[in-house]
Amino acid sequence: MATPLNQTTIKKENKQLVLHYIRKHEPVSRARIAQMTGLNKGTISTLVAELIEEELLTEIGTGKSSGGRKPVLLQVNKHAGYSIGIDIGVQHILGTLTDLGSNQLVTERKPLKETSFFYVVNEVLSMIRYLTRHIPESAYGLIGIGVGVPAIVSIHGEIIHAPNLKWRHVDLKKELRKCNVPIWIDNEANYGALGQHLTEQTTKIDTTLYISAGIGIGAGLLLNGELYKGTHGFAGEVGHMTMDVNGPICRCGNYGCWELFASEQALLSYTGSEQTLEELITLARNGDAATLDAFRNVATYLGKGIVSLIHIFSPDQIIIGNRLAMASDFLYEEMNKTISSRLVTDQQHTPISFSTLHNDATALGATSFSIDQFFQDDTAHKKARST
Ligand SMILES: [Zn+2]
Repeated sequence: MATPLNQTTIKKENKQLVLHYIRKHEPVSRARIAQMTGLNKGTISTLVAELIEEELLTEIGTGKSSGGRKPVLLQVNKHAGYSIGIDIGVQHILGTLTDLGSNQLVTERKPLKETSFFYVVNEVLSMIRYLTRHIPESAYGLIGIGVGVPAIVSIHGEIIHAPNLKWRHVDLKKELRKCNVPIWIDNEANYGALGQHLTEQTTKIDTTLYISAGIGIGAGLLLNGELYKGTHGFAGEVGHMTMDVNGPICRCGNYGCWELFASEQALLSYTGSEQTLEELITLARNGDAATLDAFRNVATYLGKGIVSLIHIFSPDQIIIGNRLAMASDFLYEEMNKTISSRLVTDQQHTPISFSTLHNDATALGATSFSIDQFFQDDTAHKKARST
């Protein structure tokens, strides 16, 4: 038998509803919130007063009047707290500090000399210390840390296997617990998809497939703006779809995986040189034939994989992010040619674009996930402010 909701639970849920509405539609008046949430004006006034008292909302200027007195508008107090997002790559880590409105205050990138777990943990902790020093005086301070990892991550944030980092069953959350704030860990492509979504708040796109193409390849699928992670959290491991059953062995243990042909790592293997992606882009700009060939090869294989993904998911749009997006000029045409010539369904017009966030999408998505969790955790607001 269902338990009836008590007054405290109802109030908590209504408060969440109001806060959620304001976050989505700010700046907004009390009257509009009442109209759109169906709650009565008295309830709205009480809840808004509490949220202002908790420093989560601020009142700003005045909105358009529909005849009477101009209403005061409400918006989230973006300076009430700050969030840190870390993107662990194979060759670098990137950290960003944002306010509660996902505006980046400081972003820092650091090369990784190796990928052993405790070395990377120390680099992450030092990045967190560096970013923390830039947090302004605020009501809540650091509200949480999100970390994106190129790994198979369970729904509970456990890192099961990171083939390109050579990690298996490592407890990153435990290592970061000393930061004394909530720690959120997810696959880097999932956070990348959320970071990308932040730039598209005004569009009405329902299904977005975000492909993170770096040293490896992963994907994050957004359904109506929400991440689809599958029952265990493992959805999106597209880099390990088989492209060639007789292909070379992948770090995941299978043969001929997509990421062996269409990633940054593949590009480097095609050129057979020690050059970085940035150097190869410069060579391509100068018309170096061998480099342009290598980019064409990657583009063809990117296209082949994307055809399968369109056949499987039929998304409204596909966005390719992470490091390879920097080379979009040399990938776009060949990739699209491959896609249009291979699609068996009538989806030639699926918009496919490269992210302009380049390397920041994952770290930004990680901060925004943390921020969402903070706003949803009523106890965090009281706890943080009573200490
Ligand atoms: Zn693989």
